[in-house]
Amino acid sequence: MAGEFPLIQKESIRKKLTKVKKLIVTGATGGIGSEIARLASANDYKVGLIDTDEEKLTSLSKQINNSVPLLADVTSEESIKTALNNFSEIPDALVNCAGIVRYGSLLEQNPEDFTKVFEVNLLGCFIVSCAVVKLMVKNNSGTIVNVSSISGGKHPAIGTGAYAATKAGIVMLSEQMSLEWGKDGIRVNAISPGFINTGMSAPHYKDNQERKKRESMVPIGRLGKAEDIAKVALFLLSEDSSYIHGENILVDGGVMNTVLSNISRN
Ligand code: NAP
Repeated sequence: MAGEFPLIQKESIRKKLTKVKKLIVTGATGGIGSEIARLASANDYKVGLIDTDEEKLTSLSKQINNSVPLLADVTSEESIKTALNNFSEIPDALVNCAGIVRYGSLLEQNPEDFTKVFEVNLLGCFIVSCAVVKLMVKNNSGTIVNVSSISGGKHPAIGTGAYAATKAGIVMLSEQMSLEWGKDGIRVNAISPGFINTGMSAPHYKDNQERKKRESMVPIGRLGKAEDIAKVALFLLSEDSSYIHGENILVDGGVMNTVLSNISRN
């Protein structure tokens, strides 16, 4: 029809007119963080990759279009400020994905282990978010996703030290951020992944028996993939979720609902 662009031309014009969004991901070289960065880049984001291993960062950045490696430690305010300066853009979006676990019963944990997990998982989320929000307020808009865990709800796991307490802290901190920063046009939500076959959990699934046991616990019949989490993160960063604020979204294949499945009704 006269005056109509062919579809392909329309698409290229749409891309030119769409403002490139800028995203910061922490824990970017990890199993889940790297998938979030990949999916974001495929959806036209420029991505700042924050992590602590320079070699892994450089290699990941080469694989991800329009990405910038930002060597930084989330527990250091100075290091994060430098990383954000090097990104030299006001971020539209942030995913706090950096996280660690130190295994061992509570009685085996020492205060140093406990403190380290708190610093990376919870203090790090606070430090990075505050640094990024101080930039976002200049645009009066932004979205943040904090990665918690099913352990952060009602289900602490034996032998995981401070991990569950930090992840519960992430959920509450996300709610507080949503209350304090909503007026500045900044939306904040959390994601709680379940049994995800990547990153820090991958070693558990190398054991065939353990993998089968956990798979059989998940009502949807499979372990989660990094991509399952990345898709939800991208949704929460996007305009499609514009009225979701202060929520914690479980992405667990239904496993958290299964506690009563273990008792007999005979
Ligand atoms: P992962 O592969 O170990 O990724 C975590 C990343 O955080 C690593 O690249 C790690 O770098 C980085 N990191 C650690 N300390 C840091 C610091 N001080 N500053 C900056 N980066 C730091 O684990 P993942 O499985 O992808 O986990 C990602 C997030 O999902 C974590 O918050 C985790 O708690 C959460 N989660 C994972 C699962 C799961 O089943 N995989 C389930 C629920 C929640 P190094 O490796 O160099 O230390």
